[in-house]
Amino acid sequence: MSRASHASPACRGRFAPSPTGPLHAGSMLAALGSWLMAREAGGEWLVRIEDVDQPREVAGAAASQLRTLARFGLQHDGEIVSQSQRGALYRDALDRLIGSGLAFECHCSRAELAATGGIHRRCVAASRRPDPAIRLRVRNDCEIGFDDLVHGHVRQCVDREVGDFVLLRADELWAYQLAVVVDDAAQAITDVVRGGDLLDSTPRQILLQRALGLPTPNYAHLPLLLDSHGHKLSKSDAASPVHASDPLPTLHALWRCLGQAPLSDASMRTPVEFLDVAVHAFQPSLIPRHALPASAAVHNTATTPRD
Ligand code: GLU
Repeated sequence: MSRASHASPACRGRFAPSPTGPLHAGSMLAALGSWLMAREAGGEWLVRIEDVDQPREVAGAAASQLRTLARFGLQHDGEIVSQSQRGALYRDALDRLIGSGLAFECHCSRAELAATGGIHRRCVAASRRPDPAIRLRVRNDCEIGFDDLVHGHVRQCVDREVGDFVLLRADELWAYQLAVVVDDAAQAITDVVRGGDLLDSTPRQILLQRALGLPTPNYAHLPLLLDSHGHKLSKSDAASPVHASDPLPTLHALWRCLGQAPLSDASMRTPVEFLDVAVHAFQPSLIPRHALPASAAVHNTATTPRD
């Protein structure tokens, strides 16, 4: 049953694209899924530009992503924030972790960590670097579990599977894991709905939330869309950008990728009209957990009635 009728302003979702290229079908699935989940609960939906990794940023990508969201009728609440403007918040969190002994300077190089599969458990650096990374110290037997709305109970042994992870990179860029945790808390996000590729980042984020005394939001990881070689779509490969000029067929196809029964309401002539109908029909429990071919997100006339 839809919860749209009884508003719960306490629910806050977000879509947080990195501006590394145009939005592809996989990122639009995350945008639509997170929008539906928030709106279906009567909640708010924020947009945050995750531009901490500036060398990977593509000029004009953030603006094009925002135009695409608007063309798809996905209206956001509040100001759009950009991580590149939020370094002071990340610095404050990092200083707290260093102050409490949970974060440490690491001089190890990638080559030195290759022997342990890139997993850091103790510093093996032969020499000090002028630009050490800062890592979070992960205790032994650090199993983190959480209940994902789509995947059920998920657990990871962070010490064995990930190791001490980077918070501030040697090139002085903030690591995604720290920035996302600080921002989700600062923006009071209650429901993180995003691509399934980030499922295995979530235990790290929960560990950081605990280290910083921050709340853990609810998580839902959506099905991954794979290209014809079985690889995740990547914005930086310019893989399958969605066609913002004709959003309605893509919305129908993405809706099906979320496991939802086709909508054929004749009144849906614009993306906003589609979303108005969709938000009342949306059933989060139907979202599949398995990956799908990206071609499933490409409209085909048999499943995407337009009038
Ligand atoms: N910035 C990430 C991306 O574009 C998403 C991160 C997140 O939703 O936590 O794939």
